[in-house]
Order: sequence, then C-alpha cells, then structure tokens
Amino acid sequence: MIVAAGGIGGNLDLVRKNWYKPWGEPPEYLLNGSWPEADGAIHDLVRALGGRVTHLDKMWNYAAGVHHWRPQHQHHGLSLVPPKSALWMNYEGRRMGPPAMVTSFDSRYLVDTICAQKKKYSWQILNWKIAKKELAVSGAEFNQAIRDKKIIGFLASLLFGNTGLVRDFVDNCVDFVTARSIPELAEKMNALTGSNDVDAALLAGEISRYDEMIDRGQPFHNDDQLRRIAHARQYRGDRIRTCKFAKINDPDSMPLIAIREFILVRKSLGGIQTDLQSRVINESGEPIPGLFAAGEAAGFGGGGIHGLRSLEGTFLGGCVFSGRVAAQSIINNK
Ligand SMILES: Cc1cc2nc3c(=O)[nH]c(=O)nc-3n(C[C@H](O)[C@H](O)[C@H](O)COP(=O)(O)OP(=O)(O)OC[C@H]3O[C@@H](n4cnc5c(N)ncnc54)[C@H](O)[C@@H]3O)c2cc1C
Repeated sequence: MIVAAGGIGGNLDLVRKNWYKPWGEPPEYLLNGSWPEADGAIHDLVRALGGRVTHLDKMWNYAAGVHHWRPQHQHHGLSLVPPKSALWMNYEGRRMGPPAMVTSFDSRYLVDTICAQKKKYSWQILNWKIAKKELAVSGAEFNQAIRDKKIIGFLASLLFGNTGLVRDFVDNCVDFVTARSIPELAEKMNALTGSNDVDAALLAGEISRYDEMIDRGQPFHNDDQLRRIAHARQYRGDRIRTCKFAKINDPDSMPLIAIREFILVRKSLGGIQTDLQSRVINESGEPIPGLFAAGEAAGFGGGGIHGLRSLEGTFLGGCVFSGRVAAQSIINNK
C-alpha cells in the first residue's frame, strides 16, 4: 500500500497546532492556499498503524496571500507574486527590512520577517503603473495565456501590462484599496482592518524616503531594494516585467494601491517518515512491511529533499521521485 494523500496545508487547525516555534504564535488569520483534502487524516491513520509522522512544523508558506473572491472552500487564498517595485510594510505602515523584502530571493525570509511583527499580516504599497507591469498570481486560474499556450496573449501582457488582471483584483478582491493621496490611502487601510494601526505620517515618511532615493539617480541608490531591482533587470526575463526604479507617490502613475497580505499556507515539508526505499518506518526506525509513502504526504520524499528554504517549483520533482522509488522498491521486493 502506498500512501500518497498530500500534505496537511489544507487543515488550518493542524497547521496552527504544528506552527514553527521560531515564528512565535501563529497569525490570528491564515489563508488556505492548498485544498481541504490535504487534511492530515491519512497521516493519523499511518500513525495508528505504528508509522512515524514527524517535522510537521516544517512548512512552505507564502507571505503574500489575498482572499479569493470566488472561494471554493473556507479561507481560500490566492498567492500573489509580490511586485518587486512595491514597498512592503508591516501592519503599522513601517517598511520592513533590511535586507529588503523583495520576492524571488528568499520566500522563507519574507515569512520569517512578517512573523516577527506583533501583528502577522502585511501591506504592499504600489501604484497602478507598477501593478500593471508587475502584479501576478500563482496558479493556472489567473494565467490563462500560459495555461492555454497562447503565446501572443502572454507576450502582449508582458509588453503592454496586465490591465485586466489589475482591474479584476481592484474591483473584486477585498484586500485591495486604492486612493489618490497617502492620507486617503492610510484611512482606507485602517477602515479595512477596522483599526487605527496604520500611521499616515509614518507611511508618508517611508514612501517619500524611498522616492527621494530614486530621485538621486542610480549612482547614489543606497537602498537594498533598488540594488536588487537593478540586479533583477540585468536578466531579460525579469527586465521585461520589472519597472525601472518606479517611484510610489508619482502623480503620473495614480491611483495608489495598498494590498493587505496574509500568510498563506501551501506545502508540507514534513510528514510520514520513510527510508530511502519510500518504506514507512516506525518509531524504532524499522520499515513497516507493505506500507510505503510518497509525495507531499512523505514531506516530498523523506524530509523535504530540497531543504527548508527550497527553491520555487522544486516540490513536484520530489513527489514524482519518491513515487518512482516506492514503485521500484515494490518491484524489487516482489
Ligand atoms: C496551488 C498550488 C500550486 C503549486 N505550485 C507548485 C509549483 O509551481 N511547483 C511545484 O513544484 N509544486 C507546486 N505545488 C506543490 C505540488 O503541486 C504538490 O506538492 C504536489 O502536487 C503534491 O502531490 P501529491 O501527489 O503528493 O499530493 P496531492 O497532489 O495533494 O494529491 C493527494 C490526493 O490524495 C487525495 N486524498 C487525500 N486524502 C484522501 C482520503 N482520505 N481519501 C481519498 N483520497 C484522499 C486528494 O484528494 C488528492 O487527490 C503547488 C501546490 C498548490 C496547492
């Protein structure tokens, strides 16, 4: 029997129970970026059979989750690919870092930083021009051109910006607010959270410091985020979808946009422990005869083979690999 029932990311209670200790208390609010079927029920069954379930606190969560406005299950979240040119603020409107909060460098650091705040959600502050060029969402549902292999549509959205996507989010996603000035933006951010957490003066100061740095010109850019943007733009694939040092409070790029972002739970790096033949092992480290585990149920093939800070897109490979190992092991022992 091969267990291939997925991870535990769809069960937010279980995720909270196994929350990674260095992140402190779990956030008050989490979004589910997995599926309800990933509920850990089969993990319990394996445990009841004597199998060892371990390292459930090792999870791959995302920092930029927003509510799906056509939810298919409770707390259904979408994972944004966070715009590199947006400023990433904590719940008060204070810029986080250094090191800069810029996506594509270290997803785990983004989660670490947000979880170190008193309130464990964040804001990204940008404007329409940045959003048009840089806003993207993970998953096939919002990337029809890629999913349907429509290369011209895909290239057009890269070259001219993805206005339709931005409009869709601004019109429908509860976590997006827009405004024509920073005080108005702060007011709307506070209205959304039902608090006075965002300090408009603090927010304005953070934005103007960043914008003034851009005004000085590239030779004088002493800002980690701007250095990373410059670095990303050296590669053609990133240059085409990353603005060249875009100011936030820019009258030509209005409206301003604030995106409230929650931690979004997605993948499990721990799970049912196996040996190198994908056989489930018991608490004494001995294989349980006839019982195998593969894929995310087994933490991507025995302990997150790509490590705690796995690279994006490296998860499926471990799932396929551990499934093949399980099959080979069954054939070899027939
Ligand atoms: C939205 C999203 C985007 C992702 N993007 C990427 C990516 O770009 N690159 C990458 O490498 N990885 C990505 N991943 C991770 C990767 O897709 C998963 O880790 C992988 O699909 C897990 O495969 P699996 O077969 O182990 O489990 P799953 O694909 O989760 O399959 C488990 C199956 O078991 C079924 N099941 C569960 N419990 C029961 C039960 N009690 N009875 C019967 N059936 C049950 C489930 O319904 C499901 O069909 C993504 C994950 C998600 C959720």
